[in-house]
Amino acid sequence: MVSLPYPPRSLYYDGKPQSANSGKSFQNIDPSTSLPLAEIHSASHADVDAAVASATKAFPSWSQTPAIQRSRILLKAASLLRERNDELAAVETKDTGKAFSETSAVDVVTGADVLEYFANLVGGGGLNGETIQLRPDAWAYTKKEALGVCVGIGAWNYPIQIALWKSAPCLAAGNCMIYKASEFTPLHSTLLAEIYTAAGVPPGVFNVVQGGGDVGAYLTSHPGVAKVSFTGQVSTGAKVAASAAGGMKYVTMELGGKSACVVLPDADIEQAVDGAMMANFYSSGQVCTNGTRVFVHESMKAKFEEVLLQKMQFIRPGDLMDANTNFGPLVSKPHYEKVLSYMKHGIEEDKATLLYGGPGKPEWLASANSEVKNGFWVQPTVFTDCKDSMRIVKEEIFGPVMSILPYKTVEEVVERANNTTLGLAAGVFTKDLNLAHKVIAQLQAGITWVNTWGESPAEMSVGGWKLSGVGVENGRRGIEAWVRNKSTLVEMSGEVPTVFAKL
Ligand code: NDP
Repeated sequence: MVSLPYPPRSLYYDGKPQSANSGKSFQNIDPSTSLPLAEIHSASHADVDAAVASATKAFPSWSQTPAIQRSRILLKAASLLRERNDELAAVETKDTGKAFSETSAVDVVTGADVLEYFANLVGGGGLNGETIQLRPDAWAYTKKEALGVCVGIGAWNYPIQIALWKSAPCLAAGNCMIYKASEFTPLHSTLLAEIYTAAGVPPGVFNVVQGGGDVGAYLTSHPGVAKVSFTGQVSTGAKVAASAAGGMKYVTMELGGKSACVVLPDADIEQAVDGAMMANFYSSGQVCTNGTRVFVHESMKAKFEEVLLQKMQFIRPGDLMDANTNFGPLVSKPHYEKVLSYMKHGIEEDKATLLYGGPGKPEWLASANSEVKNGFWVQPTVFTDCKDSMRIVKEEIFGPVMSILPYKTVEEVVERANNTTLGLAAGVFTKDLNLAHKVIAQLQAGITWVNTWGESPAEMSVGGWKLSGVGVENGRRGIEAWVRNKSTLVEMSGEVPTVFAKL
């Protein structure tokens, strides 16, 4: 048997790795070469049941552990993550195909930030409720209580970050979690579980199951589960939400987008181009908040395109561990084929003007070694003179494909930016800050930026509007998604108000 670069991945519950009894396994693939990385053992229904049972057993004690003590344990996990940043980032680079310059600076760091944020929040009294004095002899108080066993299901683009953005508030609030990574990027899952265990998270509090959509579907309909937090496509999210609603489970949905990046007429062109490039080519375009509809005022379109074409040369594909590489392959073969088909559709059916790139093989691959030639590499691509009705403008491609859309007036651009069923993110570039706030106020999106793109710090609550999601992650509001409210009214007058008194 050929040995693979990473040890097999299986389940993790009761505080240790567990073997799966499904008899089914698959291999995950290095996107930069299409070579296998590890054998992944899928969970059977009985395996999932065992993980849920482990979490159910752990819940009473973990939820009753003082918040300050939970906080200390989670802070220790955050510090272990930071100590092991480069090792974990290298695993993420292998699994996702994202350059190490990205994964080492963003993926683990922003996950650890969120863990630290929620640990500090609950340690500092963030789970306290309110007291409401109703009259001198009556008052009400509220408490925030943990939900129970929660499920986290992640997408493949930011695997360890997504796992942490879900598990951090979940565990901080006193819940237990069953986490399922995407089958395309499962390597981080058990490493994170080991780190939680090493930090002192008790057995059963954070658990992992492996597998595809069928395992996710079984989890979301499981009667032992109180909440599902899902990150993925709108179409999958709709199925997951429907299944969870059947059991009256709480849900958080972080779904796809087709966000508008609005370059207002007075914008600094250099800044606007930098922002638009970050909004389209970071992580090779595989970012949910990408601003793929780039609205550029007609008066500046020629200059914008000129500067953009100059800067496109700064996109550097290549050896993913080289500190100068900033552009990797797409995550998987099916995704590669999907993105290429959109590029072809843009040219052949939408008849958009191809300004840069396109569906052809990247030129640099000709001199690359034979393994890299088999990776899922595409060219960063720009279409211009696009129309709102084009498929490449309407649908989420989730690849490095920018569409430039000229416009004439601010009223027009606001209306066109909002003309979509999605509402994840939006941003404006302008020197006029009054105008920036007026335009932002009218854009229908949950995550918005002024003169920048993409930063999503732990302190900032983020979530989509319209079909892009339900609820938020991160920030003070992020913890609310992992607790339920209990209100208690206390009467101290010595008399029970009643209409059934003797006349
Ligand atoms: P998918 O919807 O295909 O998959 C997401 C997860 O759901 C995977 O773990 C998948 O498993 C699992 N899954 C598939 N079918 C089911 C089911 N019936 N029930 C339960 N779980 C299921 O999304 P992608 O992985 O392709 O991720 C890309 C999408 O994620 C994009 O649309 C992107 O915009 C969105 N996204 C949104 C973010 C946000 O914060 N709003 C952040 C990041 C990404 P498997 O992969 O093993 O099939």
